[in-house]
Amino acid sequence: MGENKEVWVFSEKYNLRLEMIGKGREIADRLQTELAAVLVGSNVQEKSNELIKYGVDKVYLIDNPTLERFQAEAYLSVLHDLAANYKPDILLIGSTKNGKPLAARLATRLETGCIPDCAGLSVDEKGRLIGERITYGGNAVAKVTFRSKPQIATIPARAFEKPEPQDRKGEVIKLDVKIEEPKTEVVETKPLETSSVNIEEAEVIVSCGRGLQKKEDKALLEELAKIVDGQVGNTRPLAEDRKWFTEWVGLSGHKVKPKLYIACGISGVIQHVAGIRDSKVIVAINSDPEAPIFEVADYGVVGDLYEILPALTKALKKHPQ
Ligand SMILES: Cc1cc2nc3c(=O)[nH]c(=O)nc-3n(C[C@H](O)[C@H](O)[C@H](O)COP(=O)(O)OP(=O)(O)OC[C@H]3O[C@@H](n4cnc5c(N)ncnc54)[C@H](O)[C@@H]3O)c2cc1C
Repeated sequence: MGENKEVWVFSEKYNLRLEMIGKGREIADRLQTELAAVLVGSNVQEKSNELIKYGVDKVYLIDNPTLERFQAEAYLSVLHDLAANYKPDILLIGSTKNGKPLAARLATRLETGCIPDCAGLSVDEKGRLIGERITYGGNAVAKVTFRSKPQIATIPARAFEKPEPQDRKGEVIKLDVKIEEPKTEVVETKPLETSSVNIEEAEVIVSCGRGLQKKEDKALLEELAKIVDGQVGNTRPLAEDRKWFTEWVGLSGHKVKPKLYIACGISGVIQHVAGIRDSKVIVAINSDPEAPIFEVADYGVVGDLYEILPALTKALKKHPQ
């Protein structure tokens, strides 16, 4: 089978898959080729039509009970078999805990390159994919391209907008491929003790840093968050050192993209700011007028968070939106 030039998207995560379809459609149109989704799992057939509605021309469906849960070797063998046979031009893979190593291993098997964590994608005049990667702790953007094919890039959640579904038609290609026996076995799974809400999806985040003196004072942020329909976030030291939280926002934590980020008692060093710089509006409350958070904030309040937060909550209670 010759090269078919298609653009493919794959992710085991539903929303991310749709976001990649939005961008993949744009790239496929630019290259005047087709966009396909690779759908792998058990009893997933009914999802095919939905993917078509969101913008793919075809779905490569591999539906097998052994693929119910993600297993690196099994999923890798499926993607490798498909890519080796159909030879897509571009393969976009969701940058998740599973997707990142999958993409790297696939690239090795196909003897091609892989650009991880692309915050932006475009196509150059030669039709090559250009991946944009945030680098130097969020201070620079590196543009990277390929010398080999297929061009594999991983895409983090919320890098691109989810498109609107439309009434469209497409093709579903059901395939049987040889599935590699996993070399590891899941012995047990148990829920992680994390907040039940996904902070990366939050539209408003009220976040605290070491300016907060006691764990109980989280109540100040929770009260404000409740009024603005938001979630509480925090810096890494509050999770790692003080153990008041299990997760954090920043370079090594969650990258967030809310409409409003309220940073309370957060100094705003680069490792934290790298995770919040895509927020639409940043409001900072800090007692130190020289705090670096004010350099990235759209609005700044120089003051004690123990005075400002209750006053803000009171005012918002009086004038709810
Ligand atoms: C490899 C690496 C990765 C890292 N990744 C992350 C990451 O992902 N996320 C992250 O957050 N950090 C990360 N860090 C840690 C980071 O470098 C900082 O140490 C951390 O972000 C600082 O947290 P902070 O702002 O809460 O504390 P501080 O820097 O101590 O700032 C506290 C701020 O509170 C203000 N303040 C104090 N009292 C009050 C008050 N009453 N009212 C108002 N303001 C007050 C102070 O003026 C100060 O600006 C990382 C570090 C390393 C080395």
